[in-house]
Amino acid sequence: MIELTGISKYYSRALRKSWVLRHIDLSIQQGEFVSIVGPSGSGKSTLLNIMGLLDEPSGGTYAFDGRPVTELSANERATFKREEIGIVFQAYHLLDDLTVYENIETPLVYQKRPGAERKARVAELLDRFGIVAKKDLFPNQLSGGQQQLVGVARALAGRPRLLLADEPTGNLHSSQGEVVMEAFRELHENDGVTIVQVTHSEPNAAFGTRTVELLDGRVVADTAT
Ligand code: ADP
Ligand code: MG
Repeated sequence: MIELTGISKYYSRALRKSWVLRHIDLSIQQGEFVSIVGPSGSGKSTLLNIMGLLDEPSGGTYAFDGRPVTELSANERATFKREEIGIVFQAYHLLDDLTVYENIETPLVYQKRPGAERKARVAELLDRFGIVAKKDLFPNQLSGGQQQLVGVARALAGRPRLLLADEPTGNLHSSQGEVVMEAFRELHENDGVTIVQVTHSEPNAAFGTRTVELLDGRVVADTAT
């Protein structure tokens, strides 16, 4: 599904190149559940953002379903992101002037799903993540953990084929974190969703079927779990 070849990324700092990713080769098959681990600053978020088309590599190629994403038109990229990818961000990125309900509904609105389907899907996700009572509140009225649950629910709403998650449980209590990991496991096992998560937590990494370790922008280990 994902084929990264020789992916590199640098930032120019005071006329010097500061390398964040160095020649990453990584293939991820449809239905895999991959955990990306490594110390802070090793390039995990950058790599995930490149997979989610939120960032562009300085070099190398990214093919999705056999097609280099650089060949996609702006329209095709937008469709691809809207229909195929769900992203859970480290810092929530919820829309402040929309309620919890409306935030979760957003991807379904963009996908032009009928009203009844949107309503049923949002209700199901509110229930699953135990936030039914919060549905009319705004993000700034929630704790960090609750905001993250809304972020996860929103990422799942459009039933993406590829779910990307950056430290999805970083701000959650362990019981909330478990709810999220169980939801990921179910998506992986029952729905065949391909999942790539960045995590610091070993127990959470173990939910995946494969662990890729980054160090200084390189893949230093890639093991089945
Ligand atoms: P991780 O998620 O593994 O902690 P990141 O991918 O966020 O690592 O960052 C890797 C390195 O890239 C860090 O040293 C960070 O400071 C640097 N970096 C990230 N984004 C930028 C940016 N926009 N400009 C300059 N340096 C950046
Ligand atoms: Mg990061």
